[in-house]
Amino acid sequence: MADDAPTDLYIGGSWVGASDGGRFDVLDPSNGEVIASVANGTVEDAVACVDAAERAAEGWAATAPRQRAEILRKAWELMTARSEELARLVTRENGKALTDARGEVAYAAEFFRWYAEEAVRAQGSVQTAPSGTNRILVLQQPVGIAVLVTPWNFPAAMATRKIGPALAAGCTVVLKPASDTPLTALAMAAILEEAGVPAGVVNVLPARRSGAVVSAMLHDPRVRKLSFTGSTEVGRVLLAEAADQVVNCSMELGGNAPFLVFADADLDAAVDGAMIAKMRNGGEACTAANRFYVEASVAEEFSQRFAERMRALRVGPGLEEGTQVGPLVNEDTVSKVDELVQGAVSSGAKAVVGGSRGEGAGFYYAPTVLLDVEPGSAILREEIFGPVAPVVTFETEDEAVRMANDTEYGLVSYVYTGDLARGLRVSERLDSGMVGLNRGLVSDPAAPFGGTKQSGIGREGGHDGMLDYMESKYIAVDW
Ligand code: NAD
Repeated sequence: MADDAPTDLYIGGSWVGASDGGRFDVLDPSNGEVIASVANGTVEDAVACVDAAERAAEGWAATAPRQRAEILRKAWELMTARSEELARLVTRENGKALTDARGEVAYAAEFFRWYAEEAVRAQGSVQTAPSGTNRILVLQQPVGIAVLVTPWNFPAAMATRKIGPALAAGCTVVLKPASDTPLTALAMAAILEEAGVPAGVVNVLPARRSGAVVSAMLHDPRVRKLSFTGSTEVGRVLLAEAADQVVNCSMELGGNAPFLVFADADLDAAVDGAMIAKMRNGGEACTAANRFYVEASVAEEFSQRFAERMRALRVGPGLEEGTQVGPLVNEDTVSKVDELVQGAVSSGAKAVVGGSRGEGAGFYYAPTVLLDVEPGSAILREEIFGPVAPVVTFETEDEAVRMANDTEYGLVSYVYTGDLARGLRVSERLDSGMVGLNRGLVSDPAAPFGGTKQSGIGREGGHDGMLDYMESKYIAVDW
């Protein structure tokens, strides 16, 4: 599909080149070859996107919720019908194994179905003021034009997780996809158009000069919302930029998920969960288990079984039949993963599996398990974003919780235990927005996804996800 996927900007319902004619290349991570040349949006194009979103805003906000719902439902149907070609496109530009891409496309499409169902449930409230003198009427209204900025690791799902609730709420949007993976976002714009989304409601602006185009939009007083998914580092910059016009911000940032295994856990289930939490998307997930804390009495057995499963994984080009782990997205990512692994090894960690880059062309890294990792080392503090699992042992529940919470991140934590009371107690004490309790996967369009501390602000998914695109209007009324 890369050959016939759209490659121009999508502004006001038209496919157009960049205002300066510029284009940039998109690479296939399995071999580094160019697969497409995409229009490189400029600041003028960013303003044109906001113009188009502004022209469409009033009409879309006034469109009946049922009609908005039907359009989103149609988008879910179209995505589902074309899931295989979309999955292949995701793999071509992101590199992930086709099985992961198929999972992502099903998950991504589900945001359209879920928000088709939510669009008709934007409830307000009415109450008598405590003084008895008047009524307090509260309406939910769309927040306004939303700028959506997404990362490359889930090119389909990070876009639909924002577009679905924004459209359900009645907002118009400008999506700036990651420049490594713009093709999926453009393919989705085509699907939304076919589903009946009016011109200007969704605009898509691929751009290499991310800083300049996003900054121009955040300083435009017509923009009222930023929803960003990406690194904490860039998130901080955008929060500062958004301060200028006091733009409402939802931030889904980096993670450093701890994965706790207590001695009373079902070890088979814990190893299965570890494989999912670590290896979904080849480790390139904000929810990826980044640090494994295992109770000392089962550490050897757990690590051995986990290492066997990691060793057995088949690494190769994402589109090749039987591949379980594709390449990482680009050279920088492979270098960063290798730097963290070599740093850990030089301070005493032992790689029982993997521990090095893959051979030949393409951005491969071998699935790796590291034992005897020194507490406090960089690999335990930083987001690895690759197929590497450092294992550390603990003796007591308090120690496990303390080590798990010892991070500026707070996106998700995982806990495996056979004692439900312990599981719930520990879940309450873990400082993260989400906990997988005897589960290695938490992402669900029906659930509020998001983090505490420097992992973010706001929630995506569930009913909360739509409220992120709405504002309460309070009317004090006498009747
Ligand atoms: P990134 O922060 O480098 O880029 C994210 C997006 O921001 C891209 O579209 C990029 O082009 C754009 N961008 C980069 N610099 C910018 C700037 N100065 N101004 C405006 N926009 C800019 O992140 P990435 O490498 O694409 O994605 C990986 C990161 O995303 C990881 O940290 C991961 O944890 C995080 N992530 C978080 C979630 C979540 O829901 N919390 C989900 C997926 C990924």
